[in-house]
Amino acid sequence: MPVLDSIKEKINDSKSILILTHDNPDGDAIGSSLALYNALKKIDKKCVVCIPVPDKTYKFLPGFDEILMGDILPEAKDYDLCIALDSSDLNRLGIARELFESIENTICIDHHITNQNFADFNYVNAVASSTCENLMIVLASLDIAVNKEIAECLYTGILTDTGGFRYNATPETMEIVATIMETGINIAKLYRTIFDIVSLNKTKLIGRAIDRIELLSENRIAFTFISLKDFEELGLDESDSEGIVNYGRNIDSVEVSILAKEREEGLYKISLRANDYVDVSVIASKYAGGGHVRAAGCELNMTLEQIKQTLTEEIEKQLK
Ligand code: 5GP
Ligand code: MN
Repeated sequence: MPVLDSIKEKINDSKSILILTHDNPDGDAIGSSLALYNALKKIDKKCVVCIPVPDKTYKFLPGFDEILMGDILPEAKDYDLCIALDSSDLNRLGIARELFESIENTICIDHHITNQNFADFNYVNAVASSTCENLMIVLASLDIAVNKEIAECLYTGILTDTGGFRYNATPETMEIVATIMETGINIAKLYRTIFDIVSLNKTKLIGRAIDRIELLSENRIAFTFISLKDFEELGLDESDSEGIVNYGRNIDSVEVSILAKEREEGLYKISLRANDYVDVSVIASKYAGGGHVRAAGCELNMTLEQIKQTLTEEIEKQLK
């Protein structure tokens, strides 16, 4: 049976659905989770979205206030189906990993090239710009028409994962966006809310990260970091660092930008971005991370000097 038919059957047969996404959720993770939530509610399915720490940037999305937040997770026995979104492997689910594994039926909808098909049924099209784009196909197969609420969530995921329609957008992406726009959502307002409006303290965090940028390998690599002290002093957390890696990437001579975010002493979350030809997903995968060809991430248990050296060596293998 085609996977979309199996997914449809599973959803129709289930009584109570749990929606999960990855740790440090971005716009596509939260957008796809809430789009599915609003869609399932529309067909009167009992469902819950659980995201321990959702990025508040997306608090305007319909259903955000109903997300189950915090470290206390729901019980597996209350659900007969779990759907993981935008997650390439089980570890991406963070503290919800065991919960996912304990629920009888599982589905994964994702678009990462490094996806490990960890659910019973996996709808993964890595050509798609975003999980929201793939979710649109799933919703069509479920015969759920997109309303304004669903449209706002889907648009947010596509907009953020394509960096404002710059990366990975295909003709199919734009056709899906056209359908979404037909609902009459205010796209200018969404764009400004997501990309332009920042707090004073995030502006200061950006400033600190920019100030520390170092150029390596004949200026083709940009390296910078954010320490736990920065987050503490500014009253921010890792979710507030989204987008900061792009400042390094935008420097004229740079091919790869590295941002190291301190999680605990000696442990950093790494964001990697490439411009034209370096495949950063290969590098992140080597260190148990993953992602896309030009945008990937991993965790490194090293000092900043070691990170710089290790990643520079890896990137130089691919630098022309
Ligand atoms: P970011 O740098 O924005 O955190 O992540 C860039 C891309 O890499 C996203 O698509 C994200 O899902 C993926 N990614 C980041 N960290 C990890 C990781 O530790 N494991 C995997 N599999 N993917 C990651
Ligand atoms: Mn995504």
